Amino acid sequence: MIAMNYRGPRRVRIDHKPYPKILHPNDAIVKVTRSCICGSDLHLYHGMVPDTRVGSTFGHEFIGIVEEIGSSVEKLKVGDHVLVPFNIACGKCAFCKQELYGNCHESNSQATAVGGIFGYSHTAGGYQGGQAEYVRVPYADVGPTIIPPDMDPDDAVLLTDVLPTGYQAAEMGGIQKGDTVVVFGAGPVGIMAAKCAWLFGAARVIVIDHIDYRLEFVKNYANCEAYNFKSMDDPVVFLKKATDWLGADVCIDAVGADAAGSALQTITGKKLLLQAGAATALHWAINSVKKGGIVSIVGVYGPTGNLIPIGNVVNKGITIRANQASVKRLLPKMIEHVQAGRINPKAIITHRVPLEEVAEAYHIFSSKLDNCIKTVLIPPS
Ligand code: NAD
Ligand code: ZN
Repeated sequence: MIAMNYRGPRRVRIDHKPYPKILHPNDAIVKVTRSCICGSDLHLYHGMVPDTRVGSTFGHEFIGIVEEIGSSVEKLKVGDHVLVPFNIACGKCAFCKQELYGNCHESNSQATAVGGIFGYSHTAGGYQGGQAEYVRVPYADVGPTIIPPDMDPDDAVLLTDVLPTGYQAAEMGGIQKGDTVVVFGAGPVGIMAAKCAWLFGAARVIVIDHIDYRLEFVKNYANCEAYNFKSMDDPVVFLKKATDWLGADVCIDAVGADAAGSALQTITGKKLLLQAGAATALHWAINSVKKGGIVSIVGVYGPTGNLIPIGNVVNKGITIRANQASVKRLLPKMIEHVQAGRINPKAIITHRVPLEEVAEAYHIFSSKLDNCIKTVLIPPS
C-alpha cells in the first residue's frame, strides 16, 4: 500500500509500506477513504515533537471502511463505514471510565499524560497513522463509530478531531451567558471554537490571528469579530480596550507552539521576536483575560512552553483548563449539531488532494499558501 512517510523535519513523501496486520484480537484494519492534515501534524512536521521517528506515517483524522476485524471485535463488521476518533482509548481504564478518552492509561505505555494517538510519534504510543491506504485501529470496539448514512463523508472526517476539539475548547472555557470570548488562532480548531462559543451563550466572540484570509473566513463562518494582531501595537492592550479595560471573560488558545516564532510580543514596551516553540498566544491569553477569568488551552505544545507569565495567573486568580479533546465523549452531541444544520464542518475544507501528493499538501498547509484552511487527502480507491 502507499502511505505518507516522515523523513525528517519538513520532509515527507509517499512510499510503499506493508499492509498493516491485526496484532491483537480487538484490532480492526480500516481502508482509509479520507484523511486530513491537522495543525497538530505541523508540530511533527516542524520537528517539534520528541521521538518522532523517521519512517512513521502521520494522520489521526480519518474515516474509512472496515476491511478486517480481530477475533474479539463485536461492534464492527467488515464493510462498515466508520469515523475513527484521533484518541486511541481502551475504554476500561480509570480515565476512560471518566470519559477522559484523550488520557487513556492503557493505549500509551509512555509515562506521559497523553493517551495513544494515531500517527503522533512514540510519545503518543508509536501508532501508525491514517495518511495511508490502510491503518490498524486498536481497541476497535471503543473508538470507531458508524457514520450515519445521511452524513456527508467530508463532515464525518471533521468529527474525528476538529469539531469536537473546538467544541471542547469552548466547553472548558466555562462560557456563561453574555460572556466575551477571545479565540487565539483562526485555523480549523479556532474556527470551530469560535462557532461553538455561541452555543454556550457568548454575547461577543473575537478571533485573533495574523492571516487575513483566515480572519475573513472566520468572520463570516462564525459571525464573529476578527482582527489581525500584526496591525496592533500590543494585542493585550487592544483586547483590554475592547472590553472596557476589564479583560475578556474567557480566552481560548487554539494556536499552540509557534513554530515560525514570527509573532511579536510586547513586554513593558519592548517588542521581542520569540523563538520557535514559544507560547505567544498563551501569553496573550493569560494577560488579556479578566481577573478570575478562564483560559482554555487546546493548542498543542512540546513538553515545555516558555515565557508563561505564571505570576499573572496567580495574581489575577485565573483558572487554566487544558486537554486533548475527548472525541468519543462528544461525538453524539457533535453528530446531532451537524445533522440539525447548526454546524457545517465541511465548509472549512479548502483542499482535496490525492494522497500521492502529500509532500506538496504539507508544504501548502504549513506555509498557509493558496488560502489553505483544511486539507483532505484522498487515497487511491
Ligand atoms: P493551524 O496551524 O491551521 O492554525 C493555527 C493558527 O494560529 C494559524 O492560522 C496561525 O496563523 C495562528 N497563529 C499563530 N500564532 C498566533 C498567535 N500568536 N496569535 C493568534 N494566532 C496565531 O492549526 P489547527 O489545526 O487550527 O490547530 C490549532 C492548534 O490546536 C494546534 O496547536 C494543534 O496542535 C492543536 N490541536 C489540539 C487538539 C486537542 O485535542 N487539544 C486537537 C487538534 C488540534
Ligand atoms: Zn488533528
